[in-house]
Amino acid sequence: MPSFLIQNFGCRVNQAEVFSWAEEFELGGMRREEDPARADFVVVNTCTLTARADRDVRKFIRRISRLNSGARLIIAGCSVDGGSLRSEDLTPGALLLPNSAKARLADSVLSLSDTPEASASKPLRSRALLKVQDGCDLSCTFCIIPSVRGRSRSSSRQEILARARRLIDRGFREIVLCGIHLSSYGLDLQPKDSFSGLLRGLLELDGLGMLRLSSLDPRRLDDGLIDLITRNPRVCPHFHLSLQHASDRVLKLMGRGSTAAGYGRILQRLRERSPEAALGADMIVGFPGEEESDFDRLLGFVAGSPLDYLHVFSYSPRRGTPAADWVQVEDSEKSGRSAILRTLAEDKRRTFRERFIGKKLKAIVVRKRARGVEVLTSNYIDVLLASCSGRAGAEVKVRITRVGPRQTDGEEAV
Ligand code: SF4
Repeated sequence: MPSFLIQNFGCRVNQAEVFSWAEEFELGGMRREEDPARADFVVVNTCTLTARADRDVRKFIRRISRLNSGARLIIAGCSVDGGSLRSEDLTPGALLLPNSAKARLADSVLSLSDTPEASASKPLRSRALLKVQDGCDLSCTFCIIPSVRGRSRSSSRQEILARARRLIDRGFREIVLCGIHLSSYGLDLQPKDSFSGLLRGLLELDGLGMLRLSSLDPRRLDDGLIDLITRNPRVCPHFHLSLQHASDRVLKLMGRGSTAAGYGRILQRLRERSPEAALGADMIVGFPGEEESDFDRLLGFVAGSPLDYLHVFSYSPRRGTPAADWVQVEDSEKSGRSAILRTLAEDKRRTFRERFIGKKLKAIVVRKRARGVEVLTSNYIDVLLASCSGRAGAEVKVRITRVGPRQTDGEEAV
């Protein structure tokens, strides 16, 4: 039975793609291999969002070529479109697939492998990732995504509902909805559809346990959508917003067309409607033109906001984007500011987790670990249990017993 290993880099959409490829490989008769030196096929789903992502992708490809020169290497996605790979890193025969070829990646690999009859019909993962949209029509001045992934394209509502139905029937309790710009869902379709329409359709499916939204653009988050996502108990109380900054001057330079005051109102409304929700955001530090006063504004906003966690990115110029040609903030300044914001974010995350000590929360069993069983609560807290009656993918109730700097401990609750 031919074996495969998939290495993913980058965003939730890449994770959703990898999820469905792995499912198709396994259903097509291939076997998952954890050891890179032994896999027959190595698929690398790449990311070129930051200079660091480029470096990590190239390093991994060089490592695979060294460890397993006999493997068939398939490299897909943004680094192929963005031209950031070097020919000397690639093994002879490596297959390069741009984003536009990802839809047929699983078929291409299966046709290259000598697979026996299709097999599994049980869930192979604990949580299902469902990609509903790709690409973006906006043009933030730092972002390479529109040029590597193209314009926004949505799958039809009918197709998504059918895919979700299959995932539920195969036993998945949680579905994570993914898109590059989820909030644009349906605007490209004829006739047009909307993200809230899609959500309403999904929430009517029998057997759906939890629906998690990967990321939302605050520019498209109106009161109606906030009410919908906070009212339905099957939508996970976990909302991640792509804010990027909180100084109006920097937001304008980024081409975001939004203000810190607008962000504040949205976060406040989410908090009022869903007091237990984890509220998170992406933030970019060291964007060209960011001055000390802008950074102070960002810090003040985060400290005073109901945000519970952050993904902090140090800005890195992407060739072909407007901001790459502007005067850059010194690297030492960028890393100093990033470290300060990350420390604040860690404090907020810890305070958030501590709020739930002793409380009963809904969770999905993620995996067994050497020291216990890892579960993820509906409001995005990773909890380690000493033991658990559920298998990977099962829905359980847990109680948080201890919050450490990195780890949260808990016990199964009845
Ligand atoms: S909205 Fe998001 S994906 Fe689209 S250009 Fe801006 S940062 Fe990039």
